[in-house]
Parts: sequence; structure tokens; C-alpha cells
Amino acid sequence: MWTREAKGEKVEEGIEWSNARPSKTHMALVELEKRGHVQWLVSQNVDGLHARSGFPLNRFAELHGNVFAIHCPSCKYREIQDNPVEFIGQKPIGRICGQINSRGSTCRRQLVDSVLDWEHDLPEPFFSDSWAQSEAADLSIVLGSSLQIQPANTLPTLSRKMVIINLSNTKMDRKAHLIIKSKCDFAIEILMQKLKIDIPEWTGPTIVKESSLKLEPLPIKEAKPKTTRRKRKTKSEQDPDYTSHSVPKAPKNEIPENEL
Ligand SMILES: [Zn+2]
Repeated sequence: MWTREAKGEKVEEGIEWSNARPSKTHMALVELEKRGHVQWLVSQNVDGLHARSGFPLNRFAELHGNVFAIHCPSCKYREIQDNPVEFIGQKPIGRICGQINSRGSTCRRQLVDSVLDWEHDLPEPFFSDSWAQSEAADLSIVLGSSLQIQPANTLPTLSRKMVIINLSNTKMDRKAHLIIKSKCDFAIEILMQKLKIDIPEWTGPTIVKESSLKLEPLPIKEAKPKTTRRKRKTKSEQDPDYTSHSVPKAPKNEIPENEL
């Protein structure tokens, strides 16, 4: 079991992950996808809550991994487990893949966890799919991210419009058409009330492999960054995107937290 220091105490992350419950935001996204309002979801969290909330696996990308997911580096077999992995960083979990390929032979590679370390590139096809979906989207909504980690932070800026819902400032605020400084659950509840859609209750871990709606294939353009290794922006670092960005500035409708 891997641990972290929290307020001077060692906390067993595995137990924390297992007990974590999807938020209202997670569950609202499940319902919005079912109704065709959400086409694609990108998550930078490794808590696995989107997968366990019942959001269809073929409709989202966990770009930095999922502590409940294991996969085979060779044949790309993927599995969501009931319990979190004991180690992270794409390390072997001590189980052979065992999938039978199209030629009838058994894959003998070791399955590994899916959580990235800093030296790992973002997983494919998830990053390419996210890029194509973001480029094709009319609107990307950023929920609870300060957009500091490259290249994932570029994705919402590719869409025609970007709305950011986050308590603090983000690295991409200048590119946003609307910024709502709020906790996600609070803003999403208001949105769902306006849409007159109930947020479903979470009844326990639910894995949904495919959406009931058809996902249209999208062309993948060749404008992706050369490296998809993660990088955190520093304050002193120039952001070339800021100067080359061509979307006209829309008036921002900033809503201070205390007015929500
Ligand atoms: Zn395999």
C-alpha cells in the first residue's frame, strides 16, 4: 500500500480511494452524457471516480491514469478493478495479461498500473481522442482545475468556446469566454436546476463500458504537441500560446465567489 504524509500522519491512500464517493458534479456529468449534452470528458484526476460513477469508459480519457485501472502495454487490454493498485508509476502488478490475440496466441506481458509518473508520455489513444474531441467541440467546460499541467491544459482552449469553473485563477483565464469562481458542485447544481434535470444518486461503484449513444468518429489533425510528457508551468515561463492566441476576447463575466 502506498502512503502519503498528511498533517503529520501517514494515510493509507488505498483505503482513501476505496471510500471516496463521486460528487454531485460527477453524477451530473453521468446524466448529461446520457442525454447527449456531454460528448467527451477529460480527467486529470487519478481517483477513478468518473469511471466508478458510471460515466461510459468509451466517452472519456483519464490522461494521468486511474488508481483502479490496470492495462497491458503490449495488447492494450484494460481493466477497472474493485480495489486500487498497491504501486503507481506503470509498475507490474504481478499478473500476466493472458489475453488471446487474433492469431490465437496468449499475451505473456505483465499487466501494469495506469498512473503516470512524470517521465511518462500521456496514454494513447486517449490523448489523440481528447485532442480531436476538443477541436470539434463547440464548448469545453473546465471543472475544478487550475490548468497548470501541460499538455492537458491546452485541450479546452482548442474548442470554439471555453468556460472555466474554478475557485482560483487558472493559467488559461485569458482564453476563457466565461469564468465562474465557484466550487464545482455549487455551480453544477445551479446549471442542473436551470436545465430542469435531476442529479442522480450514486448507488455504489458502477462501471459502464459503452455509452448508449453513438459516438461519431472524428478526424485527428496533426497539430498535436511533439511531446505529450507532462510539464508544470512555472511563473517565469513564457506562454507562447498567450501571444499567438487568435480568438477574440469576449467580455468576461466574472462572478466573485461570495456572490454565488
Ligand atoms: Zn496483453
